[in-house]
Amino acid sequence: MTSIATLGSHCSLQVLKGAKDEGLKTILVCEKKREKLYKRFPFIDELIIVDTFKEVLDQKCQSILEENNAVLIPHGTLVAQMSSEEIESIKTPVFGNKWILRWESDREMKEKLMREANLPMPNPVTEPKEIEKLVIVKRQGAAGGKGYFMAANEEDYNSKRNQLISEGIISKDETLYIQEYAAGVLAYLTFFYSPLKEELEFFGVDQRHESDIEGLGRIPAEQQMKSNKVPSFNVIGNSPLVLRESLLDEVYKMGENFVDAAKRVVTPGMNGPFCIEGVYDENAKFTSFEFSARIVAGSNIYMDGSPYYSLLFNETMSMGKRIAREVKIATESKQLDKITT
Ligand code: ATP
Repeated sequence: MTSIATLGSHCSLQVLKGAKDEGLKTILVCEKKREKLYKRFPFIDELIIVDTFKEVLDQKCQSILEENNAVLIPHGTLVAQMSSEEIESIKTPVFGNKWILRWESDREMKEKLMREANLPMPNPVTEPKEIEKLVIVKRQGAAGGKGYFMAANEEDYNSKRNQLISEGIISKDETLYIQEYAAGVLAYLTFFYSPLKEELEFFGVDQRHESDIEGLGRIPAEQQMKSNKVPSFNVIGNSPLVLRESLLDEVYKMGENFVDAAKRVVTPGMNGPFCIEGVYDENAKFTSFEFSARIVAGSNIYMDGSPYYSLLFNETMSMGKRIAREVKIATESKQLDKITT
């Protein structure tokens, strides 16, 4: 029997609950400090206790996963805590395409794939002296918005950067990425592409709540002006969103373009869940600043099914369960190699 394994963080509860509901064995790679938390959940069949998640690369851990015919579900914690080389060296079959995770982590590769997919993107700004409009300054990799800041011009950029360096939040020799700020309604669009059915499904939309940029909106302008803190975009949680129905056609098109582009650029393409992240402006035009090439934590909102999946499935379907369903069908039809790398 195939089992489902993942790292204990991010969306692991949802992933393993979905796997259990599909009748698969569930395994959690769990840091010692979180053992007590995860033992509360009866749908987790086995815990592999580790000191750090990197131990998933060790022979001991990989042997246990192999004995259990495990498929490893990658999520944000894997991407944030391991290098692309480490992820690519994992011997356990990884759900989806582990090679595309490098395209998510590297800013230049990310931009290349987004261009290939024709996603409308904010303009990058190559040098601080070229800042003419409001920009957002980001760090490399999935930093989760920590240490990001906005700047209106070069002087503003330098003073904020220096402040963050002196506070130890960013380092002096770190290459920062500058992009025009896109204002509007945040929307994180989650899809699932099934290589078995060769079909794209739109799963749902969420919004991220980021501190302390959001908290700032609750303070009157007078106090904001007196504060010299650089607000960051650290993700705290997510909430659901539905879109105007007239936007759905374009949403599917963006998802399809992304799947087609990924097929051309990084074999075997964008299999499984992924998320296109951006904002809708006053003309309902979408600008995308980011993608995630795996399940996102925003799908945790829909553990009981999403509005859009309730249109496609006559049963409760979380993203965790959808992944497990794909693994189950692939196992039964001996096509696991089609959905894993
Ligand atoms: P994660 O990997 O957690 O998605 P990340 O470190 O790759 O995060 P982004 O998703 O690019 O970072 O950005 C973090 C947040 O900053 C976004 O959720 C959004 O609120 C804001 N943001 C990023 N780029 C822009 C932009 N061009 N215009 C407006 N807001 C932006």
